[in-house]
Amino acid sequence: MKTIDLEQETNPWKAQAARFDLAAKKLNLDEGLWNILQSPSREIIVHIPVMMDDGHLEVFTGFRVQHSIARGPAKGGLRYAPDVNLDEIRALASWMTWKCAVVNIPFGGAKGGIICDPHKMSQGELERMTRRYTAELFDFIGPEKDVPAPDVNTNEQTMAWIMDTYSMHARQTVTAVVTGKPINIGGSRGRREATGRGVLMVCDQAIKKLGLDRNTTRVIIQGFGNVGSNAARLMAKAGYQVIGIVEVGGGLYNSKGINLEALSEYRERQGTIHGFPEADRHDPAELLLQDCDILIPAATENQITSQNADRVKCKILAEGANGPTTAAADDILAEKGVFVIPDILANAGGVTTSYFEWVQDRQGYFWKEAVVNEHLGDIMVTAFDDVVRYAETHAVNNRIAAYMLAIDRVAYTIRQRGIYA
Ligand code: GLU
Repeated sequence: MKTIDLEQETNPWKAQAARFDLAAKKLNLDEGLWNILQSPSREIIVHIPVMMDDGHLEVFTGFRVQHSIARGPAKGGLRYAPDVNLDEIRALASWMTWKCAVVNIPFGGAKGGIICDPHKMSQGELERMTRRYTAELFDFIGPEKDVPAPDVNTNEQTMAWIMDTYSMHARQTVTAVVTGKPINIGGSRGRREATGRGVLMVCDQAIKKLGLDRNTTRVIIQGFGNVGSNAARLMAKAGYQVIGIVEVGGGLYNSKGINLEALSEYRERQGTIHGFPEADRHDPAELLLQDCDILIPAATENQITSQNADRVKCKILAEGANGPTTAAADDILAEKGVFVIPDILANAGGVTTSYFEWVQDRQGYFWKEAVVNEHLGDIMVTAFDDVVRYAETHAVNNRIAAYMLAIDRVAYTIRQRGIYA
């Protein structure tokens, strides 16, 4: 048996590169374009001083990586976590390029991150850190340059601080500098639920393809943050049986389906899903491998690896998170015949609705939620069909098809624009 170095396997940049190389090879991508697209076009590192509540100064390290601006302004989230690192942000930035190209919206790709533990910081500390990070990046972000959005541990409030700081420097209110804002300051209706709604939309397409029925389709979701909780709620409402929620510190399982309304109310009251009385407590690592029809990893990277992929028991894997599956696990899942809806398609509902938010901000005219959701549905269904058709015509799996489609679109644009040298 081939021995796999887990550290290599779980490096997101390597995971990205493995899929990129495979797809680029299948496309016969010429060497020059290969070189352009395999590395990010700009990487910014900042060390930002922040006054902590107790009066001492702390210096935080932050990143913003812009992978590509070929198809439009760079676009992508900002995450706060202790294990943020440059390789991870690079990978996430390139995934944004491919994601925006898969759904065919006019953006490139970027990602930002700050190494910090947001759960140990006060609102004031988070605000000062966010504002200083924004000030440092003032020259590099903007509605026509690079548009940040929420990601792991950032939210509407974070985006409001960025918008305000940027606007103070610009001496005018610039709502379109970030997306995922609160609705009353230029946010879009439907943006908060959009990633989860997009997951539901692609799952609907996948079950149709596999001949399954919503009412008998059992779903397990890993993560109960923005993506996981909204996907769970919307899928349950649509008639799916959400039988498991995998969370750090304990999973919830109910073979008859978890009442998501009751769970959301419980979390509202208790601040946690742990202890919810209408489901059994379950070991999280085992729950991920429990028998189900759709598994939705909606937490962080590297959840399905060479170590557990052979024990995954779903028919459909819909990746709500970015990079939840390693390249080594891809082969195992393919051998098992799992229908994978890759991250750059499955979770693209978020950035697609970010695109609508950016459009609305620039128009100064705001759409009804039904209009947002209808446009989202059109884009997600078209992208799903494009990827699946690409996979069938080129005899590759869905992930490589999504990469091929994306790389082809970005490479085409670069060829058309030509290289300025
Ligand atoms: N952070 C989200 C993602 O990974 C959304 C990015 C955006 O809306 O720009 O897709």
